[in-house]
Amino acid sequence: MPFFTQARTFEALWPDIRSRLAEVFDDGKFSHGRQVARFEEALARWTGARYAVGVNSGTDALVLLLRACGLQPGDEVIVPAFTFVASASAVVLAGGRPVFADIDPVTYTLDPKSAADAVTPRTRMIMPVHLFCQMADMDALLDVARRHRLTVVEDSAEAIGMRWNGVHAGLLGAGGVLSFFPTKTLGALGDAGAILTDDPRLAETAGALRHHGRYGRTLAHFPGISNETTVNGVNSKMDDIQAAVLLAKLTRLHEDIARRARLAAAYTERLAGTPGVLRLPTVVPRTARTNPVFYVYLVEAELRDELAAYLAAHGVGTETYYPAPLHLQECFASLGHRRGDFPHAEAACERTIALPLYPDMSLDDVDRVCDLVRRFATGRPA
Ligand SMILES: *Cc1c(COP(=O)(O)O)cnc(C)c1O
Repeated sequence: MPFFTQARTFEALWPDIRSRLAEVFDDGKFSHGRQVARFEEALARWTGARYAVGVNSGTDALVLLLRACGLQPGDEVIVPAFTFVASASAVVLAGGRPVFADIDPVTYTLDPKSAADAVTPRTRMIMPVHLFCQMADMDALLDVARRHRLTVVEDSAEAIGMRWNGVHAGLLGAGGVLSFFPTKTLGALGDAGAILTDDPRLAETAGALRHHGRYGRTLAHFPGISNETTVNGVNSKMDDIQAAVLLAKLTRLHEDIARRARLAAAYTERLAGTPGVLRLPTVVPRTARTNPVFYVYLVEAELRDELAAYLAAHGVGTETYYPAPLHLQECFASLGHRRGDFPHAEAACERTIALPLYPDMSLDDVDRVCDLVRRFATGRPA
């Protein structure tokens, strides 16, 4: 069983995808065309965002959102030390300086107290990252932001479907992002991403930045025509083949999320009490009504690497999210951190392992993985 596949999903969706692809070929517009505009509208409707700006990856979405929010050279952005590397490298690419803070050890998301301690006179923004199955503690983090007048930019790349008191992830502060990397809850057949925001000026600026800095004719929502280039943008347009695939997959996203929830619940039921498994995913109660979405089923294991090797030897793929805390990555060496600076982030990197979780899986697949984890724990050969 691979760590991830969407072969069955695509087989089932193929007639729908094929007719949408035929439209792309008939239009002859393969980048920033009609399917992209349609997808932006459908995504805005699905999430409740006023604007969805399609780009070519979640990483680009972060960089362009930070730029559109007015990040200036040397501005500090508070980022958790345990997240995908792009959360922090986007800050550097946008000209800012990431300042790390520790995570909450149960939810793996930015710890509001550690974030507040990281504020300096140069702090301009704070980046909560919503990981695996739930959102960071947004009430507490919005409070930190309010007290220190920080702009909130959410790395909601993994968080499609997650809501905070009914508000979709990414829409609690200035804006957020989504990634449609194939393994994500809404995955394309390659790279793609989007910026979500309720702010028309941010949407317009981000829409221009992705398109060589051209305002106008860049968003379905802003149909003006202008080839005037007023800022230095990049080429991060979304391509229509991905948009067509995403439109088809969006029609069954609610079902996919429900299926993920059933599979995750089965894992939790079967793995409870397994020796050597130190922690199962724990959705913590918040001060808000929340909607967890299982993107990744992450457990902590005593002998993590040995367990991964054992499962691999028995044909089960796993993944390590994330292998090293960001403050100890070479690309951030200039920030001068040492082991011990963010103990919860470091512990998470040493102990966590992601088990396969995707709509193509069956409950029997979950049983098989759980049997193997149990056998590994009790030392019985398979
Ligand atoms: C996937 C992901 C990204 C980057 O998205 P890409 O589309 O792969 O560029 C950023 N942050 C987090 C937390 C992610 O999971």
